[in-house]
Amino acid sequence: VVQDKSNSVNSSRTMDGSQNKVEANILLLGAENVGKSALTVRFLTRRYIGEYGDIESIYSHTDRIDGREISFNIWDSLHPQNYEVEGYISEKQLQWADGFILVYSICDRASFNVVRQQVQRIRLYKNKLSAPTPIIIVGNKRDLKHRRTVSSEEGRLLALSSDCGFFETSAAETYHGVLLVFHELLDLIREARALKKG
Ligand code: GDP
Ligand code: MG
Repeated sequence: VVQDKSNSVNSSRTMDGSQNKVEANILLLGAENVGKSALTVRFLTRRYIGEYGDIESIYSHTDRIDGREISFNIWDSLHPQNYEVEGYISEKQLQWADGFILVYSICDRASFNVVRQQVQRIRLYKNKLSAPTPIIIVGNKRDLKHRRTVSSEEGRLLALSSDCGFFETSAAETYHGVLLVFHELLDLIREARALKKG
């Protein structure tokens, strides 16, 4: 069901300007049930459907931003079950991604701890590279205020201390906030590439 929706209303393909084309591999990580699929589907289709199932998939989505063709590859991951290491990320995933979106739920403290571990893992792995790997930390389910157990300050502090971007979102309530996350990450990826070249 989800795959069908990836033929986004928002995508546009053009024949010209292939030299202008930017490609970005974006990997969504985080504990189970935090809204990784909801954020992905929101970005791809602008819609929120509520039930997403346990599907792992890489979606392609082409968009035109500031006159430039952007090709997003979005890997909506499944949190591995029965792993010794909490916040495990495979070597393949680490190599594939140009940028990461680490998602937790503001009403699930354990999911915040998973993100904490995953930030460390990415920072350790990518240590050798000159430019910092772009990461955005996302506290999702912002609409469930009455059930909040992770404060905004904690999220912001983790992001600050690990050189990551930070947003709180509600995939359920708004498209715009979700769009901002992906666009900010794209900006960071392009900055990191410019740094590498220069
Ligand atoms: P994933 O396992 O991280 O991919 O999580 P899902 O995207 O499948 O979402 C898990 C559950 O949380 C689903 O029932 C979603 O409808 C719900 N959910 C996702 N995002 C939000 C949100 O922003 N607010 C609320 N209230 N529920 C959400
Ligand atoms: Mg999912």
